[in-house]
Amino acid sequence: MKKHVYMDHAATTYTKPEVLEEMLPYFTTYYGNPSSIYSLSRETKKALDKSRDRVAKAINAESNEIYFTGGGSEADNWAIKGIANAYRDKGNHIITTNIEHHAVLHACEYLEKHGFEVTYLPVDKEGFVSVEDFKNAIKENTILATIMFANNEIGTIEPIKEIGAICKEKKIIFHTDAVQAVGHIPVDVKEMNIDALSMAAHKFYGPKGVGALYLRKGIKIHNLVHGGGQERARRAGTENVAGIVGLGKALELATEHMEEHNAKMTKLRDKLINELLKVPYTRLNGPRENRLPGNANICFEFIEGESILLLLDANGIAASSGSACTSGSLDPSHVLLALGLPHEIAHGSLRLSIGDETTEEEVNHVLEVVPQIITRLRDMSPLWDTFNKKGEK
Ligand SMILES: *Cc1c(COP(=O)(O)O)cnc(C)c1O
Repeated sequence: MKKHVYMDHAATTYTKPEVLEEMLPYFTTYYGNPSSIYSLSRETKKALDKSRDRVAKAINAESNEIYFTGGGSEADNWAIKGIANAYRDKGNHIITTNIEHHAVLHACEYLEKHGFEVTYLPVDKEGFVSVEDFKNAIKENTILATIMFANNEIGTIEPIKEIGAICKEKKIIFHTDAVQAVGHIPVDVKEMNIDALSMAAHKFYGPKGVGALYLRKGIKIHNLVHGGGQERARRAGTENVAGIVGLGKALELATEHMEEHNAKMTKLRDKLINELLKVPYTRLNGPRENRLPGNANICFEFIEGESILLLLDANGIAASSGSACTSGSLDPSHVLLALGLPHEIAHGSLRLSIGDETTEEEVNHVLEVVPQIITRLRDMSPLWDTFNKKGEK
């Protein structure tokens, strides 16, 4: 049998069997519309409440501060457009970073076309935004900051608590895209002064197409989806009951086992990084410390990330270069360019993202295959050839 090694957990995860098991009755037995009043709907209504409680508990929020959405992108779009428009009379300036997910970047660009002004903060060579830069970017008319909790490509965990404290002091609403953080590293919206936060179930072993927005009590927001009175009249549409049940269960599981999983994953991640850096002319993208436990991202000079992926796939290994949304385009990822990497080097990047089910055997398989692929591709690379000829002179 062909070996399948999944090294792309930052793109999505499978749905855990315990999660699926809790979801299934909501497709078949408990299918009542939660908005109806007959008893068939009581169970579905109860299931929504239970999931809301579980999500709130995982991030130290209140249940009535959780709103379910159709995924991470919707939560990001809703938070950014909805809050910006609700506070338009107070100002029109937004602060973000240039390494955000496209769900945030493109929402900000959309707002720029509609009368808002956006500051895109740069990051350092490991992907950290500077708290000093953030402070300096604040103006009289700043209403909203949206800074990602952890980066999906290079794993950098941003100084969220420090930024939250500044936002609180300056009375700026603080949203964070925590899609890579929730269920993976500790998130506490009270301690970190977070006003709004996005998450997506499929990044922590729940189903795809369901997410949540946490919105602190008292924060104003305009609706993104208008219609019926669901989600306390803030997000219309009949609820994805089974999906929401899956989100709650998956997050509860992830939170319960977080420490144990992280200890195991950090070891495997560091093994991947340390061993791959032994290949000549490589570099680590992102930091050593304050890095997501599942993320390894390495640049291999003189070759193309896309060709590494093809050869990995031929060896049964699923990985990514740049991010899932940008592969298929020839531009290097905006995140790698933001680190200051030249185009030709950014092109040769490989992201391996592991999960809690990843085994040492799988990591060893990757470590056996990758160096062979790199040698093979470099042997075919005109850049490598030119580089070596220069060395001979
Ligand atoms: C995956 C991801 C998203 C988008 O979430 P979807 O559920 O795919 O819409 C947004 N931000 C980050 C950081 C992500 O990793």
